[in-house]
Order: sequence, then C-alpha cells, then structure tokens
Amino acid sequence: MNSSPAGPTYPYKELIRRLTANRCSLCERPGKVEARHVKSLNDLQRAGDPSSDWVKLMAERRRKALVVCGSCHDRIHRSPPI
Ligand SMILES: [Zn+2]
Repeated sequence: MNSSPAGPTYPYKELIRRLTANRCSLCERPGKVEARHVKSLNDLQRAGDPSSDWVKLMAERRRKALVVCGSCHDRIHRSPPI
C-alpha cells in the first residue's frame, strides 16, 4: 500500500488555512481576521478602485475571498479610498 497520495488541492482549503493562520492578507498583522467575499472577479472591478491594494491582490490571485483583519475590512468597505 502506498502512503497517503497527494490529492488535489482545493482553494477553499487554502482559505481555511488562512483563516486559521489568523493573519491579515493585506497588512499581514496577526489577530482576528474576517473573510471578505465578492460574487465574481468582475464584481471585484466594480466593488473598488482597481488601484486599491486589496483589489489588486484578489485579482492577482484570482480569488473571490480574501482574509483580512477588521481594520482592513473596514477600509475595504469604505472604498473608494479617500
Ligand atoms: Zn489588515
């Protein structure tokens, strides 16, 4: 018998790992984090300024979810940035 084969990796698993790591994807501060979701990557373009760090990060990683701390999450919701 083979030892456990390497299965496919699921993006969702990475999200879980990120959530349990308790680290903000934007400012990298450890602590309480929340998941920020968008319905689609197209929504992403509409949701914020395309030059925002979080829009770039999500677009780059082609992720519809981003794990951020409370203050970054606040900042995202207040976009477009001042
Ligand atoms: Zn943060």
